[in-house]
Amino acid sequence: MNAERPAWEQTSAGRVVAPVQPRKLAKVPFVELADGRLQGVVSSGSDIERVYVSSITAGTLTINCSTNNNRPCGGLRGSACKHLHALLDEAVLQYGVDRVARYLRAEEGALLSGQPEAAPAAMVFSRFLRHLAYLELPESTVPIPEMHWFR
Ligand SMILES: [Zn+2]
Repeated sequence: MNAERPAWEQTSAGRVVAPVQPRKLAKVPFVELADGRLQGVVSSGSDIERVYVSSITAGTLTINCSTNNNRPCGGLRGSACKHLHALLDEAVLQYGVDRVARYLRAEEGALLSGQPEAAPAAMVFSRFLRHLAYLELPESTVPIPEMHWFR
C-alpha cells in the first residue's frame, strides 16, 4: 500500500489512469482531458465550500474559470488565474506534460497563453459529481453503465 494514494486509486476496478506522479486531490479533485479541453474542478483557496470549474480549450488555448454556479472567477482578468495554474499543474502530474501539450495542440511553455472566453461550467461540474458518485460505489466486478461517460 502506498499511503500517498487514496484507496480508490489502488482498486483493480478503479477507472483512473495511475497518475504519473501522486496528486493533491484536495486542491484539484477532478481533472480530465475531454470535450476538446483540459478541464477540471479546483478548490477555492479561501473558502472550502466553493469550487471553480476551469478549462483550457485545445487549439485556441482560450481559458475559462468560473464557480460551479457560473459566476465568473474574479482572478481571471486577461490572463490565467491561480485556479488555471493549479489545474494545469495537476494535469501535468496526472497525464505528463507531453500528453497535455499534445492534447491541447500547443507548446509546453504556452499552455496558459490564451485569452479568456466563456465556457459552460455546468457540464464539467455534473461530470465531476458523477465521478464522485462512481467513487462512492462499493468495489464491484459488474460493468457500470455510467462508465461510458469517462471514455
Ligand atoms: Zn479562477
